[in-house]
Amino acid sequence: MIELLTIGDELLSGRTADTNASFIARALTEAGLSAGRFSSVGDGLEDIRRALTGLLPDTRFLIATGGLGPTDDDCTAQAAAATFGRKLAVSRAAIGTMERRYREFGRPMPDAAKKQAVLPEGCVPIENPVGTACGFLIKDAGRQFFFLPGVPEEVHAMTGFIIEHILRECGMRQIIKSRTLKVFGLWESRIQELLKDRLPDLPAVALGFYPSFPEVSLKITATGSDEQQIDNELLLFQTVIQEHVGDYIYSDNNETMEEVVGRMLAAQGASLAVAESCTGGLITHRLTNVPGSSAYVERSFVVYSNRAKQELLAVPEAALAEYGAVSEPVARLMAEGARKAAGTVYGLSVTGIAGPEGGSAEKPVGTFFIGVAAPGQTIVKKQFFPGTREKIKIMSSQMALNHLRLVMMGKGIE
Ligand code: ATP
Ligand code: MG
Repeated sequence: MIELLTIGDELLSGRTADTNASFIARALTEAGLSAGRFSSVGDGLEDIRRALTGLLPDTRFLIATGGLGPTDDDCTAQAAAATFGRKLAVSRAAIGTMERRYREFGRPMPDAAKKQAVLPEGCVPIENPVGTACGFLIKDAGRQFFFLPGVPEEVHAMTGFIIEHILRECGMRQIIKSRTLKVFGLWESRIQELLKDRLPDLPAVALGFYPSFPEVSLKITATGSDEQQIDNELLLFQTVIQEHVGDYIYSDNNETMEEVVGRMLAAQGASLAVAESCTGGLITHRLTNVPGSSAYVERSFVVYSNRAKQELLAVPEAALAEYGAVSEPVARLMAEGARKAAGTVYGLSVTGIAGPEGGSAEKPVGTFFIGVAAPGQTIVKKQFFPGTREKIKIMSSQMALNHLRLVMMGKGIE
């Protein structure tokens, strides 16, 4: 049983969410291990000591985070020393590592920082690749207690090492490999339904579902001692998932939707113009977050008003009057207008009602139209996603990029 103990007053006051515990728990699960219990305690020396002492009788492995900094309220090392009846002493190894880190930062090591090298005697320092405070491991009567700093990026950088160590100590398989499939257009429950009883029965492979609006990541993790076998098992799992989830999987390499669309545009040597109404530039923001996007993003039009749609995209006034700005014909005219005005291979348009005002019985808030103008054809799709204004904007930008992806793959829009 692996215990997690997160230390910090800010966790108890609710000021900071305990993301360290969830991060470590997730990493343990993916490695085929499991967290037995989480607990949190404030920064007080006596509180930490009491928590550690309470865990001593039946804990073989503990991972603790927080309270290793240089300030007076950081007293995890003292509490750990007191728990195991050890003295505190300057760790030569920790000082050496810290001096090297400061040299790399090009700064002299402040005296206050030296406190971070005062560790319980006989502990093993654990290198921190992204910060100055070392972690440390206390081994005592078959128990192994790991102590890490509280800063989440440092915890992220150090967890892998600890998990490998625990796997080795338990004589378990050591190589861990994973692959992340990104799914858009199906919610987690539907994906689970599609995969139910279909996945190969491989005990060393775990599948994790990580929904993050508006998409779901499927992380396949395989552990073992034979790398070739792990690769085969990962591929087998991936193939079965792809068979049942199909084109809803837009990346098998943990990419974002805008990275995938950008990669496809670049591979085709194609250019893109975007006409954005309700997304207000969000699609273009996302596309241009990708390095190298200047190779395919030609220009964008943020055409919020009817006048802008007429002036910049030559959408006829009559079409706006007859069908309304949020309509199939106007989305089509916008996509084609953007493509023509910019002289690009593709034109992509979105027009919709993000709310909270402006909906009607016929076109409620959350209604939007996406147009993709491609050589020889323009495909327009009506979509509906009710939600807050922000979520509607995110969803419509994602759907627009996804529609472009499907058209570039030669698939119609469903
Ligand atoms: P420092 O050198 O920064 O003082 P430290 O080891 O003393 O490192 P803390 O002071 O406990 O770490 O926390 C540093 C930062 O990390 C704070 O911003 C804190 O809110 C955040 N943090 C601490 N514990 C957690 C946790 N369990 N989950 C998420 N964030 C955390
Ligand atoms: Mg601190």
